[in-house]
Amino acid sequence: MVQGKYLLKVAGCQMSFHDAEVLSGLLSRAGYTETTDPAEADVIIFQTCCVRETAERKIYGQINELGRLKRSKPGLIIGMTGCLAQKDKEKVLERCPQVDFVLGTQRLGDLPEVLAALREGSGGIVDVDAVDNLEGLPLKRADGVRAYVNVSYGCNNFCAYCIVPYVRGPERSRRPEAVLAEVEEAVREGYPEVMLLGQNVNTYGRDLDGPVSFSWLLRTVDKVDGLVRVRYTTSHPRDFTEDIIRAVKDTEKVCEHFHLPLQAGSDRTLARMNRGYTAAQYLKLIEKIRSLIPGASITTDLIVGFPGETEEDFQATLDMVEKVRFDAAYTFMFSPREGTAAATLPEQVPAATKRERLSRLNALQERISREQNETLVGKTVEVLVEGPSKNNPCMLTGRTRTNKLVHFPGPEDLRGKLALVHIERASTWTLQGVLADKGKEQA
Ligand code: SAM
Ligand code: SF4
Repeated sequence: MVQGKYLLKVAGCQMSFHDAEVLSGLLSRAGYTETTDPAEADVIIFQTCCVRETAERKIYGQINELGRLKRSKPGLIIGMTGCLAQKDKEKVLERCPQVDFVLGTQRLGDLPEVLAALREGSGGIVDVDAVDNLEGLPLKRADGVRAYVNVSYGCNNFCAYCIVPYVRGPERSRRPEAVLAEVEEAVREGYPEVMLLGQNVNTYGRDLDGPVSFSWLLRTVDKVDGLVRVRYTTSHPRDFTEDIIRAVKDTEKVCEHFHLPLQAGSDRTLARMNRGYTAAQYLKLIEKIRSLIPGASITTDLIVGFPGETEEDFQATLDMVEKVRFDAAYTFMFSPREGTAAATLPEQVPAATKRERLSRLNALQERISREQNETLVGKTVEVLVEGPSKNNPCMLTGRTRTNKLVHFPGPEDLRGKLALVHIERASTWTLQGVLADKGKEQA
C-alpha cells in the first residue's frame, strides 16, 4: 500500500507541532513515508500559524516558492492545515492556485479522504467546518523524550489581540479517560515526559460533568506508572488557583515550572487586553507560588506596543519584569490580527516604537535570565537527558525540572534517563556542567 512520500512544514506553537504529529500518523497509516526533500515529495502539507503577521507572511512566501516545483510535477499535492488555513479558508486557493486543499483545525481526521478525492481528480478542496473529528486519530510522535497530549481544544477568553479563539473554536475539554489512555500509551512507547496541552489548561473540565478539574487531572496523571515528568501549557494567571499550586507541590512528577503569560504590566493595558487580572493580582500569585514552592521557575509571554500603550504603560511592564524576576520570557511586538478587537483600536503604536521597546525589554530580561541562571552555579540539578546537543554533538543536553537547558559531557546511553549534573557555568539561555556523584546537594 505504498502511496508515496510526504513532507510537513510546521510553524507555530506546541499545539501546531502536535497537530503535525496527527498528520504524520494519518499519512503513515495511509501508506506514505516521510521525506525532508521537497523534490522527492508527493504530498507537501503546511501546518500553519497565524498568531502574528510575520508567521503568516513567511508561510505564504514558502508556498509561493513551490510554484515552479508544482509546474514541473503536476501530480504533487500541496495542502494547508492549521490556524492560517482555518482563518483564510477559500482565500488560500485564490491567493495560491498551486494549493490543492485547505483543511481546518477541527477537520484533521478528514485528511485520508481528502487525499483519496484529490488522487481521483477532485481539486481545490476546502474543508473547514467547525465540527471536531479529533478523537481516536493515529499519532506519529516526534523523536525525543517528551510526548504532547491535548487536554482541551479551543479557547473562550477572547484576549483583545488574539486570533486563537476564532480559529480554534470554543474551549472543549477532552474526556479524562481519553487523556489518561493517551498518557499511558505514550509511556508504553517509551516517553518519560508528557506535556499536557491546551490554550488555557487551568480551566480543564469546566465543561465536563463530574468533579474533574485541572488540579485533579495533575494529581491523576501523576499516578501513571513509569512516567517520570509531567509538564503543562498554557496557563492563564486569572485561572491559576491555589489548588493547582498545591497539586504541583504535592505531586512527585509534576515539574516546578510555571509558565504564566503576563502580557503587560500596566493595569490600563491589561484591562484593554481583556486579561481579567491586575498587576497586583499577578504579583500575589507569584508570591504564593514562591512561598509554597521555593526554587520554582517562572516564565512568561509579554507583548509590547499594544494599541494605546504609552511610555508610562511600557515602563510598568519593565517594572513587573524587575519585580517578578522571570527566568525567561517570550517577547513579542503587537501584531494586529484582522477580526480581533485590538486590530481596529485607535492609537496603534508605530513600528519603530515597538521595535525600540522590544529591544529595551529584551535587554532587561536577558540580564535577569543570566542572573537567575547564575544562582544555580555550584548546585547539583536533576536533568532529564534529551540526547546529544544540536550545536555540539560531543555534549549531552537535557532539562531541569524547572525547564532550564543544561549541556554536559556524558555517555549517549543516558538519553531518556535522569542524571544529576553539577552546574559549573551559566549563561542567559543555558547552564553548563558535569555529571555529579550521587548524594551531592540538590538545588
Ligand atoms: N493560549 C496561550 C496563551 O494564552 O498564552 C497561547 C496563545 S498565543 C499562541 C502565544 C502568545 O502569543 C501569547 O501569550 C501572546 O503573548 C502572543 N500573541 C498572541 N497574539 C498576538 C498578537 N496579535 N501580537 C503579538 N503577540 C501575540
Ligand atoms: Fe489567545 Fe488569550 Fe486564549 Fe491565550 S487565553 S489563546 S492569548 S485568547
